Amino acid sequence: MTDVAEIPRADAPSRPLTATDDLPRPRFLADVYEAASQCNKCSLCQAVCPTYVVNPVEWETARGRVSLVRDAIEGRLELADIAEGPLSTCLTCNNCVTACAPGVPTAEIVSRARQELHEQEGHPWGQTLAFRAILPRPAMLRLLHRFSRATQVTGLHRLARATGLTRWLGTAGAFAEHVGPLPARTALRRARSLPGPEGPARGRLVFLVCCYQNIAAPEATEATMRVLAANGFELVVPELGCSGLPARTLGDRDAELDMARRTLDRIAELDADHHAFVGDVASCTSHWQRYGGLLGSDADYAVRASAIGERTWHASAFLAAQGMTAPLGRLRWHVTYDEPCQLPLDAAARRAPRQLLTAIPGVRLSELPEAAMCCGGPGTYFRDQPDRSEAILRRKFENVLATGAEVLVTENISCITQLRAGARRYAPKVRVMHLFEVLAESLDAARRRRVVAVD
Ligand code: SF4
Ligand code: SF4
Repeated sequence: MTDVAEIPRADAPSRPLTATDDLPRPRFLADVYEAASQCNKCSLCQAVCPTYVVNPVEWETARGRVSLVRDAIEGRLELADIAEGPLSTCLTCNNCVTACAPGVPTAEIVSRARQELHEQEGHPWGQTLAFRAILPRPAMLRLLHRFSRATQVTGLHRLARATGLTRWLGTAGAFAEHVGPLPARTALRRARSLPGPEGPARGRLVFLVCCYQNIAAPEATEATMRVLAANGFELVVPELGCSGLPARTLGDRDAELDMARRTLDRIAELDADHHAFVGDVASCTSHWQRYGGLLGSDADYAVRASAIGERTWHASAFLAAQGMTAPLGRLRWHVTYDEPCQLPLDAAARRAPRQLLTAIPGVRLSELPEAAMCCGGPGTYFRDQPDRSEAILRRKFENVLATGAEVLVTENISCITQLRAGARRYAPKVRVMHLFEVLAESLDAARRRRVVAVD
């Protein structure tokens, strides 16, 4: 295997290919080859790449990664030569796309290169088991929650940690350590006792419960459901398996397609043809929005996948677009907002959370420097790249502390778990909250005020 340090610099002068150039015949990854050929080597992606800023070497930039994948496509090196480093350290966070004039989709190119690599070399057995036997099946997810919680409640978890068993348990053990104590009731159970819509009915929607947040931060999902109900929406809350995002991130395309099809089959049973689909985990809803492209060549699913992708909203964008009708109470909080990198790139989606936060009386919002930069927590990155992840997290908290805010707000389960871990180490006085938990607190404050006024 070639050491990444030996790989030729990717910023050697070259001209981007244009539509009139004859591209060499790609060995593989034909679907992203032309996009990879659009990089003009301008280097504007350097300063916004979280991995480059903590490890400033060329192969950590979008430019470097794209150039190396193109070299592999054209046969100058093998994908295995760049697996450790250029491919494994990319967070697939998309932040480089915001700075890239030709819009080179580096995260997509890296994801497809990982898929190709895994098709060439096979997948680790534990990952294969998780993607086929556990994540797509709601019953197995329920079992996983009960088992994980039982080990925590009985102290088996501490024993496993003391004996090194959590390390032996690999990714599952690492998640158990990272997430911390699991609440007894999942978000799906809490949905059963959800209050009905308040005020004039504004429509029904299908609420998408992310399988990870369902277990790891159900209080955040419960808050989102309550806020939507308080604003007049009736929620249908199906029990679904995983959307397939982890399989995309780790390069298992068959599993990704299988989970997307299972999800669509379950949705077809709901008779929800005209409903909006709303979720409160940015990476999960973004993945739903990609379903049309993912299943576009599948005759049985293409139309449904595209229709559902187009009707899927991230909760903050949905509520900002529809407008809040529930009265908000005063919170004398100083907050800052960290953007999940999987939040859609359009300006309205990025504006929405700030719009909702500043609508709360008394809230002071300080802009977080480098708010759009990843926190180093997506998927299994915190485990697979612990040093890189920690360096990125430390930088994030230097920025958080510089704002002086007491509450750090975000909208994604991987960000919540990573930022809570970071707050424990670097800023114990800072609370990490989902945006809808803040909104729910404000609704409660308004209710308390009404009760006092009536008394
Ligand atoms: S900003 Fe885009 S075009 Fe410029 S070097 Fe980076 S990937 Fe290439
Ligand atoms: S996707 Fe994120 S980590 Fe990967 S090159 Fe772009 S900015 Fe860097």
